[in-house]
This record gives sequence, structure tokens and C-alpha cells, in this order.
Amino acid sequence: MPSTSASAWADHISDCPFCISGARDEMTTLRCAIATVLQHGTFMACDDIPLMEIVTNAGDYLRGLASSPGGDQATPVPPATRWDWLDAEVRRAVALAAGAEPASALDPCIDDALAQAAQWPSQRQQRLFERAAQQFTEQHATTP
Ligand SMILES: [Zn+2]
Repeated sequence: MPSTSASAWADHISDCPFCISGARDEMTTLRCAIATVLQHGTFMACDDIPLMEIVTNAGDYLRGLASSPGGDQATPVPPATRWDWLDAEVRRAVALAAGAEPASALDPCIDDALAQAAQWPSQRQQRLFERAAQQFTEQHATTP
């Protein structure tokens, strides 16, 4: 396993379908961040963290990951000015995976779908986040 942040970063890039293109522009970073939150959502749901907590404050969560002692130096953290956008996109991705068909990131059907999914048992929520991460990657990842 990598012991330095440099090799952790290289590791992140090599298995990240978003960053693999090498062009780390802002949209790449944001998509990479969304996928990271969705992937972590699976583990958080496993820990019985309420769904509504998982889908809010994504930027803050990523910053916490990146700055925790011995933390994941390879975690992408978008600028704070983009956190609202990041939250909206995470919520939309989860709602899509739950079967909603939002017309935009502000569609009220997103809130409805999330409120319903928040009532689901932990295992179903874990699968929901898995599906959301997979769908998001299929839709947005750079094809090598
Ligand atoms: Zn990445």
C-alpha cells in the first residue's frame, strides 16, 4: 500500500474513471468529488448514518476526509463556492438511483424521492448508493 501522499494520489488517478484522462479541470474535480461522496455513502449507510445527513454537506465531508490525521490525501475537495452545487448534484444522483426522473437539480421530485429513501432499511440504502455511484460513473466518466 502507498505510504506517501504522492503515491496515494497516483493510486487515486489510476483507479478513478474521472481523473484517468489526466485533465483535472474543475468539472473533472467536481465529478470525481460527487462519485467519492456516493461511494462513501454506501459505507455511511452501512454505519446507519441517516440518508439526509449523507446527502448534505458533501463539501464539508470531503474536506474532513482530506484533512483528517493520516487521512486520504487523494480526496478531491472542490472550492467552498461550489459546495451548494455539489450537494445538489449528489442529491440528484441519489434520487435518480431511487427511481425519480428529475428534470433538473432543483426538481421537487428529488426531495420526495430522498424523503422516501430515508425511510428504507440500511441495506437498501447501501444498494441505493452503490447504484447511484455506478450510474453516475457510467454517465459521466471519461472513456479511456
Ligand atoms: Zn478522481
